[in-house]
Amino acid sequence: MKALYPGSFDPLTFGHLDLIQRGSDLFGEVLIAVLENPSKKATFSCERRLEHIKNATRDIPGCRTIAFKGLTVDCAREHNADLILRGLRAMSDFEYELQVAHTNRSLNNQYETIFLATETHHSFLSSSVVKEVARFGGEIRHMVPEFIAKDLIALNTN
Ligand code: ADP
Repeated sequence: MKALYPGSFDPLTFGHLDLIQRGSDLFGEVLIAVLENPSKKATFSCERRLEHIKNATRDIPGCRTIAFKGLTVDCAREHNADLILRGLRAMSDFEYELQVAHTNRSLNNQYETIFLATETHHSFLSSSVVKEVARFGGEIRHMVPEFIAKDLIALNTN
């Protein structure tokens, strides 16, 4: 089965990576879609985010990464995905994720959204937390792969 894993990934964290690995174990194929959201100002360009993800997922079987503008359900249809994969960290994610899942069902009820619960040790991890810690020079190497940490540190020293 092919799972579509859409997100901003600005940047990819070990939380995302864990979801991709488990998605690959469960479904065989994971298509990671970096959504270019015009209403969200990204820290990293879409090209850079794609590079980060491709690099980090090199050894995960059945993984592919694409950039996508538009509706998730259209992306799923265009790429013949069987389901949409999302992650849940806390109740605060749940409300938003449920709304998005219902919206997607209302647009195309062919797609189920499957949620994987975060690993406990990744439950605090989000792209924005990593960026906040990096901004103040804190340790981020347990949050993101090495080359992403370097990119974040470079952002803050330039
Ligand atoms: P979006 O802007 O679409 O929410 P994100 O890159 O923030 O994109 O997140 C993509 C998906 O990954 C979301 O479903 C989010 O809940 C999930 N996710 C993010 N961080 C983690 C984590 N630490 N553990 C599990 N899932 C996560």
